[in-house]
Amino acid sequence: MNFRYKLMQFMSGRYGVDKLFYVLFGVASVLSIVNCFVREIWLQFIVYAVVIYAFYRILSRNITARRKENQFFNKLIMGIKYKRNIHRQRKADYSHIYKRCPACHVVLRLPRRKGKHTTVCPKCNKEFKVYVFKA
Ligand SMILES: [Zn+2]
Repeated sequence: MNFRYKLMQFMSGRYGVDKLFYVLFGVASVLSIVNCFVREIWLQFIVYAVVIYAFYRILSRNITARRKENQFFNKLIMGIKYKRNIHRQRKADYSHIYKRCPACHVVLRLPRRKGKHTTVCPKCNKEFKVYVFKA
């Protein structure tokens, strides 16, 4: 029996590598490099904990739990990307401003006209004042 076959047999029924593993490993690597300069014992323990957790996930036989962790992580990343895109789109929109209604917290897209204005929320019909400093 060669080593590769033994490894395959050992890994069968175990979770293996996923995106979260690479991220955990990357975080551990970065923290390890940072710790070369900082030299803190607690940071070293965090690095060990992250690496141990990453390898525990690879060798785990509870595949559904590990898959859930990875899905949760992917949703988190997607949420961050979505918010970043929204922010970029609003920044690129020079002719409008985005204000949150103080009553129902819905975001309103209003024309960018310098000065004091009164606007009515289309959702809850509450009137509120908007100040635009730059036109
Ligand atoms: Zn409202």
